[in-house]
Amino acid sequence: MNGLMMDVPATITSLMQFAENVHPNTEIVSVTADNPRHRYTFADAFRRTRKLANALQALGVARGERVGTLAWNDYRHFELYYAVSCAGMVCHTINPRLFAEQIEYIVNHAEDRVLFLDPMFIPLLEPLQSKLPGVKHYVVLTDEQHMPATELPGAISYEALIEPHSDSYDWPALEETAACALCYTSGTTGHPKGVLYNHRSTVLHTYASCLPDALGISRSDVILPIVPMFHVNAWGVPYGAVMAGAKLVFPGPKMGDGETLAALINEERVNLSAGVPTVWLALLNYLVESGKRVDSLKRIVVGGAACPLSIMEDFEEKFGVYTHAAWGMTEMSPVGTFNSRLDRQALGEAEYAKLRVKAGRPIYGVEIKIVDDDNRPLPWDGVAFGALKVRGPWICSEYFKLESSAAHDQDGWFDTGDVATIDADGNMQITDRSKDVIKSGGEWISSIDLENTAVAHPAVAEAAVIGVYHPKWTERPLLLVVKKADAEVSREELLAWFDGKVASWWVPNDVVFVDSLPHTATGKLSKKDIRQQMADYRFAE
Ligand code: AMP
Repeated sequence: MNGLMMDVPATITSLMQFAENVHPNTEIVSVTADNPRHRYTFADAFRRTRKLANALQALGVARGERVGTLAWNDYRHFELYYAVSCAGMVCHTINPRLFAEQIEYIVNHAEDRVLFLDPMFIPLLEPLQSKLPGVKHYVVLTDEQHMPATELPGAISYEALIEPHSDSYDWPALEETAACALCYTSGTTGHPKGVLYNHRSTVLHTYASCLPDALGISRSDVILPIVPMFHVNAWGVPYGAVMAGAKLVFPGPKMGDGETLAALINEERVNLSAGVPTVWLALLNYLVESGKRVDSLKRIVVGGAACPLSIMEDFEEKFGVYTHAAWGMTEMSPVGTFNSRLDRQALGEAEYAKLRVKAGRPIYGVEIKIVDDDNRPLPWDGVAFGALKVRGPWICSEYFKLESSAAHDQDGWFDTGDVATIDADGNMQITDRSKDVIKSGGEWISSIDLENTAVAHPAVAEAAVIGVYHPKWTERPLLLVVKKADAEVSREELLAWFDGKVASWWVPNDVVFVDSLPHTATGKLSKKDIRQQMADYRFAE
């Protein structure tokens, strides 16, 4: 027997219309290339969203077609999120830090019809445009006054594009399963793969990620999403803030700049922010060096990579900011687990430090399990390591235009490519990417644990650990270290630092000091490049 409740689809349109009615006066503040502080309200944003939807229709973009963006976090990108998805098209956010060949592949594979780009990406696109035959229109995210000269065919400024259009628009009634957004994720092999979100998955993910033990977004929050809007929809913050009615502060191109971030936090009274560890390190260094404070900031969410304990401790002890670790993937919309606030006093210092660096507990809607090489479930004892698999309504079932190869196994579980432990309370800890795990004498060593231990040394700015061939053990860990400016530490001192902190057979065999480490387009350590750089390295006999 069916229940007798209304059949109202869960769409991003309903989220937008709800916010327009219920939170019209909530503010959005942005830094853009043409304005250091743009300020308006949800009501203004959604009025312009309707003008943009009319403009897209006038450009001839049909339902289901892809509209690409190469843009930082700001109000125009926010308008694109809503106009494109709610008009029934697909908002394809592209990471501008990718190599030109990858961008070319992605735009062509996605069959983007229109590209919206920030002015600073014009030099990136001009040499590519002849290889992008499907792109019919280029729109530069600025106004007429700041519109640069460009060879991009028919390029028009965003403001000139939307200005002539009406601010009334009848949003189409969409199926909740309709595609709304597309984000490509780069694997280690082959081309980047497209993850195609739908309205339902986005709305469900938004509900779950706003829960108190997840991002816990409420109307009283002022949120600064530093995580880019091209990196898994800024982890869903542009949707969560709209659902909850929280003020949004967008840093535009200044997301890596500690000084601008500190100024934005202080001026706008930001209390919650989200980003990858490198961003927090930049802000922390700026605060320590400048003597500035960020007193309104209460919580930061760190994801995309494991957060070293030292960053968490410095933020808490020096600045009173609580750090939440979270884990997810592009394929997961992205939030899978979240480390909610822990009771330091009740846990005691050692347990507190141990628990807080973990990736947290699953949020409702995400099932997780760890399995051995034969796909047999491993115990949740905090010790057993295994391949981490996930299942749920906001997890990718197939990659875009690769429909023949299901992204999940026959029981519907998606293999994340991560290796993890899970404890009896459901606290999950990523110990490695499966391809990065170090196998020494048949036993696994966690490179992430070793990196976190190294970074806790006062002279270490950044560290990476890779497995290197060893004649007796097959593989042994090699530590690469970038020293802090003016700091000194020897190989022997660093190796001694691991004593008592990790199992003795985990201690790296050697240390190589480097000036810098390579990062991926999303700001993570690029183990692939590090392995390549160290391809000729051999341990001394
Ligand atoms: P992406 O799809 O670019 O967001 O990358 C997802 C991958 O980032 C995951 O599969 C993990 O390998 C890594 N990752 C994300 N969050 C964490 C975390 N809290 N700890 C360790 N690795 C993480």
